[in-house]
Amino acid sequence: MKTPNMINAKNRHQNQIKYTKYNKDLGDFGKGKTFFVRTYGCQMNEHDSEKIKGMLTSVGFNYTDDINDADIIILNTCAIRENAHDKVFGFLGVLKHMKQSKNIIVGICGCMAQEEVVINEILNKYKQVDFVCGTHNLDNLLSIIKEQMDTKKRQIEVLSYEGDVVEDVPVLRDSPYSAWVDIIYGCDKFCTYCIVPYTRGMQRSRHHEDIVNEVKELVKKGYKEVTLLGQNVNAYGKDLYEDYNLANLLSDVSDTGIERVRFVTSHPWDFTDEMVDIIASRDNIMPYIHLPLQSGSNKVLKLMNRRYTKEEYLKLYESIRKKVKNSSVTTDIIVGFPGETEEDFMETLDVVNKCKFDGAFTFAFSARENTPAALMKETVSEEEKMDRLHRLNEVVNKYSNEANKKMMNTTVKCLVTSLSDKDKNKVCGYTENMKLVNIKGPKSLIGKIVDVKITDTKSFSLDGEYVIIE
Ligand code: SAM
Ligand code: SF4
Repeated sequence: MKTPNMINAKNRHQNQIKYTKYNKDLGDFGKGKTFFVRTYGCQMNEHDSEKIKGMLTSVGFNYTDDINDADIIILNTCAIRENAHDKVFGFLGVLKHMKQSKNIIVGICGCMAQEEVVINEILNKYKQVDFVCGTHNLDNLLSIIKEQMDTKKRQIEVLSYEGDVVEDVPVLRDSPYSAWVDIIYGCDKFCTYCIVPYTRGMQRSRHHEDIVNEVKELVKKGYKEVTLLGQNVNAYGKDLYEDYNLANLLSDVSDTGIERVRFVTSHPWDFTDEMVDIIASRDNIMPYIHLPLQSGSNKVLKLMNRRYTKEEYLKLYESIRKKVKNSSVTTDIIVGFPGETEEDFMETLDVVNKCKFDGAFTFAFSARENTPAALMKETVSEEEKMDRLHRLNEVVNKYSNEANKKMMNTTVKCLVTSLSDKDKNKVCGYTENMKLVNIKGPKSLIGKIVDVKITDTKSFSLDGEYVIIE
């Protein structure tokens, strides 16, 4: 049994990072068995789930999206806020009941696996969990599952260190048109509220040749879009190269001929003019930027260790809006950080009023184990946090509505990805600036980039109809 240690998880030694290749040959021990994966959290977790699916199918397991058919159930977890924990522990209760009537194996992967308190709780209270695999040794998942199946003993393997970069992990992608591509793992920013630098390890970039080759392969397979992934994509290359950064990578990925390039998430501190210029200059780099603000108060930004001021954020924001045509910008905001006063909160609203974001993910501060903010005195009551969140959301929704309304009657390019969830007689897809559109048009549009006329707008989506431009 290997369990996590949050103190070791903080360590940063550049020379410890190993670049290796996945080369598991475990035969076909999964043949005849079926597995199900439930994913919590961010895009990085969604992509990790694609790797979990890729590894398991490579040894004969079959993937099912019906949990009742599964022999193995894997929860790929998120640790970012307490409610993410609650969801997983709640679901483990459901699985305990399932286990009473059926012989199933239950496993936990992802960020929660990297937390000491969680593992202690699982060891003591959640006997229904048969294996735990951390984020750093995901490439060893098959060995862990095999050992559990052979011995019927609980397997816990979580490593707390800087992490490695493992290439060639099999991937079973959810979409045949749009693909996630990791470019940088971990994070060294240590924002005081955030658990990611502990659960995901040190900032470590993939070699740019590996990334570009992956995108070239995706182009060959007919993919239309790639989204370059990292907790802080703007830091790409800093740990590896002196003269190669995200701007160079965006340029090289754009040169592969892929029709759409996206990237998430951006950190204002590492966002250079050179990066803005390359986004503005390439037609296949999409004009959509997720630029977390977190707070509009310089005092709170400092307490958060965000490394930029409200003025610096606004300068970058204006430069993006000015240079990148038809851009949309979304953000993340936390309310109720320890020490945030009503005046600080009003400063956040002020920045939102200035930026008029296309959308925002808004959160109430949630103290995370071992992070510096968890040791700060909480000064905002839960009630006040909810009140600020409510007031913030009203303003945010007003601007996302306004931004959507501006698109009324325009004709825009959409990558059609699937049938619409809202109406099975429609299809849906995303505009270049990342607006979801429910489209009146035939099923045969799925997988294509087509022209769509916007016929109605809502707060979180648009309606449109397919048009043929002669
Ligand atoms: N790396 C990205 C960044 O720098 O913004 C995303 C990190 S996290 C997956 C997504 C968002 O969760 C953060 O931007 C932040 O707004 C929010 N978040 C992180 N830790 C939080 C906490 N302890 N309480 C509330 N919200 C939190
Ligand atoms: Fe967390 Fe900050 Fe790193 Fe984003 S940049 S992952 S918020 S520590």
